[in-house]
Amino acid sequence: MTVPVYDPLPEVEFLWSELEEAFRRVMRSGQYILGPEVEALEREAAAYLGVKHAIGVNSGTDALVIALRALGVGLGDEVITTPFTFFATAEAISLVGATPVFVDIDPRTFNLDPELIEPALTPRTKAILPVHLYGLPAEMDPILEIARAHGLKVLEDCAQAFGATYKGRKVGTLGDAGAFSFFPTKNLGGYGDGGLIATNDDGVADLARMLRAHGSRKKYHNEMVGYNSRLDALQAAFLRVKLRHVDAFNARRREVAASYHQFLQGVPGLALPPLVEGHVFHQYTVRILERRDRVAEALAREGVGTMVYYPVPLHRLPVYAHMGAALPEAERAAREVLSLPMGPFLSEEDLLRVADALRGVGQ
Ligand SMILES: *Cc1c(COP(=O)(O)O)cnc(C)c1O
Repeated sequence: MTVPVYDPLPEVEFLWSELEEAFRRVMRSGQYILGPEVEALEREAAAYLGVKHAIGVNSGTDALVIALRALGVGLGDEVITTPFTFFATAEAISLVGATPVFVDIDPRTFNLDPELIEPALTPRTKAILPVHLYGLPAEMDPILEIARAHGLKVLEDCAQAFGATYKGRKVGTLGDAGAFSFFPTKNLGGYGDGGLIATNDDGVADLARMLRAHGSRKKYHNEMVGYNSRLDALQAAFLRVKLRHVDAFNARRREVAASYHQFLQGVPGLALPPLVEGHVFHQYTVRILERRDRVAEALAREGVGTMVYYPVPLHRLPVYAHMGAALPEAERAAREVLSLPMGPFLSEEDLLRVADALRGVGQ
């Protein structure tokens, strides 16, 4: 691909001396799991987000699982969530013994449609799990209001939205807890797996810290069945480097999105994503109203990489298809979405090449 959908290497080059310094520090410290480096990342991430506690874990998936358990979600409970997300969102709900209840999306935002939540509530509903898909914050005010009215917990899936804001506040700090992923392609990504739980609740933080370390506060004094889900010191050190740049990187993503918006305005058969404040554009995802897969193939022939996030909505996957849900907006989105090359190091030249190619195949 002349313009790959995601290219990690320019960023590595840009950060090289800082990453090398972090590597030397950790390798010579002799401590490679948790420890002072992870504690420093947790302090710095908590300060950045404006939240009381940040807890480093092994992955975004584990952040969801551990946060759900710390919030008291378990066997027999139902959790309202979106079908238009990465599998891990629902998988985490199933892993704690609860059932995901899929509610359709708002076609303008690709996020949970708050209007559809109340009709889906049952006496077993325990929590709502909105996802800030592609870096665009979900409509949190009505979600929080419904949760308050019905005594439900709210866990935000922020895997694609580090630094995104909703009405001026960072996502991951609005509900009872937020789960972040540091998977390398995420907008704050490490160089391996990693994740983080954010919460203002002391009890939830305490449980999450226990659960990530085999359910123990004190080594060999396990109080519950937990996980081996500790963050590595090397990843924490690399993430501390990247945290210092995340605002600049997110700002550059927004600039790339604004340029796409300008160059792709008015192309027939194409619908552009909303350019709203607070969106960090983990992905720049358009809708191709007809024959999306043929457009993607034509772009690939021009050397332009694209991705479909996600081709099958979760309620249509073999794991969940038996639930028989019909969610037309999620199904339509799965047929139409196409994510274009995006990242803080995408050059203006490459961006123009993508826009030209898309205009070309649109005609
Ligand atoms: C990436 C992602 C996850 C899972 O994160 P991992 O770190 O890969 O485990 C969960 N939810 C969403 C929406 C994601 O994009």
